[in-house]
Amino acid sequence: MNDRKSPRIYRRETPPVMRGRIGYRNAEPYLRRDFDYRCAYCGVHEQLKGGPQAFCIDHFKPRSKGGAVNDYNNLYWVCIPCNMIKHDKWPTNEQRRRGYRFADPCREQDYGVHFVESDEGILRPLTPCGEYHVSMLRLNRAWLQQHRQERIRRWMRFREASQLQDELKRVVQTRPVNAETQMMHRLLSFLSEEIEALQSELTVAIPWIPTENDI
Ligand SMILES: [Zn+2]
Repeated sequence: MNDRKSPRIYRRETPPVMRGRIGYRNAEPYLRRDFDYRCAYCGVHEQLKGGPQAFCIDHFKPRSKGGAVNDYNNLYWVCIPCNMIKHDKWPTNEQRRRGYRFADPCREQDYGVHFVESDEGILRPLTPCGEYHVSMLRLNRAWLQQHRQERIRRWMRFREASQLQDELKRVVQTRPVNAETQMMHRLLSFLSEEIEALQSELTVAIPWIPTENDI
């Protein structure tokens, strides 16, 4: 269960000195660590996009809308598609009054508070902020939705394989060593390889987003 009061992302790094028009670029290694090598918005891991070259620094409040250029707290590590889609979008004063704004993962919990995930891997807004955030960042674009569905399938497979492994282990322990139990041991080592592979895939999958049933 999410702690709904604390932000999703904690900054732990001491920011570097940043000056001038592109001084903020010095922050890249610090941001990568603070954002756990993932996009601040869609949650995709660098490894799934071929490495850090598929990522860049985003100014949460755009420079063109008065956002600070070299303030570490205005810098977010994001995938290039999210950066291009977000561009210089920012809510108007009127929209803000009605609650329409980007959710800020460094200052609040967004997953499970402003939006939840459906069984089909679609993000469903719960608040005006969630509505603005999900639609402006196009967080239901096909690639992300497919990836979330794939992650759900892998989680189910992982759970099933782990249960099967436990049951088989119990059975093997009670039997004398014979051809049948030798086959079971082969099955067990096959299962543990499968579980290990699923585990490493899940480590870089888009993080779990609470569903309607979880909150
Ligand atoms: Zn992204």
